[in-house]
Amino acid sequence: MPVSKARSKVVRMRHAKHRDAGNEGTRFLLFPQPPFLENFAEPEIVTVSPPAGSVGPGPSDDRMYAIYPLGKALQYGFHVSDGGKPFMYLPAWQGDIIAPAMPDEGGHFDHLTPGTAQFETAHLFGAARFALDVWERYFGRTIRWHFAGDYSRLELSVLPSLANAIIGWGFLETGVVPTEEGIPRAFSMNFDVIAHEIGHAIVYSEVGLPDPDTGNAEYFGFHESAADLVALLASLHFDSVVDSILLRTSGNLYTVNQLTRFAELGDHEQIRLAANNHVMSEFASGWSDEHDLAQPLTGAVFDILVDIFHEILLDRDLIPPDMEDLSDQLEGNPDYGAVLQDDFDELFARNPDGFKMALLDARDFMGTLLADGWQLLRADTLTYAGVGEALKTVDGRMTGGQFRRIIEGNFKIREIGRFAPGPRQPRSDAASHVHSARTMMPAD
Ligand SMILES: [Zn+2]
Repeated sequence: MPVSKARSKVVRMRHAKHRDAGNEGTRFLLFPQPPFLENFAEPEIVTVSPPAGSVGPGPSDDRMYAIYPLGKALQYGFHVSDGGKPFMYLPAWQGDIIAPAMPDEGGHFDHLTPGTAQFETAHLFGAARFALDVWERYFGRTIRWHFAGDYSRLELSVLPSLANAIIGWGFLETGVVPTEEGIPRAFSMNFDVIAHEIGHAIVYSEVGLPDPDTGNAEYFGFHESAADLVALLASLHFDSVVDSILLRTSGNLYTVNQLTRFAELGDHEQIRLAANNHVMSEFASGWSDEHDLAQPLTGAVFDILVDIFHEILLDRDLIPPDMEDLSDQLEGNPDYGAVLQDDFDELFARNPDGFKMALLDARDFMGTLLADGWQLLRADTLTYAGVGEALKTVDGRMTGGQFRRIIEGNFKIREIGRFAPGPRQPRSDAASHVHSARTMMPAD
């Protein structure tokens, strides 16, 4: 049984999840906004880990609280006063707020009406809590906030005047940006963006804060990549998303780049394709945007996820060996989808539940692999090749090296370890996170 060891770890995780569900967590209504599906607007009721009755007005709990400030003119972070003096503006918000979201008599928040300010703060809180829950399960413990020395709780706020979403020292602020058609889109309603920001916080806490003087390019690329992967795997915890992705692809996940949205707005404007073909040589002569630099690493991890999914399908006799071989051979080939789609359609129709279980197991294996791997990394010495080594180390522990070949192969295809990023080039816009409110500490 090639993946049996991996599976036993996955099964343990599934049980932990059921325990969480059994303690009567708190219900929220969320719009999944998966990064990889176009036009996905179906809301889903989810349960977050704090027991029903423990989440207070806001909503608020012991890790975070959501508010809708009234008359907040400035975003948190680094500013310069009229007199030219630099200053840091940080939580907690001291002014008035719109009436907070209140729980129903059972302690849940899924009764609120979309379109109200209370729904919006509840959605922001629910999305952040849901993403944190997913990753705390993968880490197998509480993820401490990187700013815990100053704040015990994250302040989540709705700030429509901000054309961005930013997590920083004790805060996550979500603004509004118009779509190309001019329709205002609030990031408080965008699960993908909120989960991505929580991903940044997880990296700061688990991998560390950068030394601003070293300017380690691969650390900043890794940050964006990890934040995207946090959002990607969190999205795959919505039942409706998993069902939809399988129904649209029949499990032929290499075709998700045809479903991929991953286009954000403002600071999130970059087109981020988890399923992409970018390689490191593209950045060898220089780079200007860490979101672009993240692509080879994100692409490698996405392809590893798909390969592990295929291994599990094969292991459970859900696809025949010749199909898996063909799939490996055609990886990256434009004919891939067309050649294999009929086979996937037929086999998926025979056992959709089996495909779903395989995808959930691949997802959870990858989540654990990343969580355990990231803990082996250090901010100042981090390289993409080091990420690959860390994943192999964890795979060695979990499965005896079952997926070593897959990890190595995908990192090699992306030219990781063969080409290092060249010097950083200046860029015209100011979307970089490197010296942003996100990385700024009060000490700066
Ligand atoms: Zn980011």
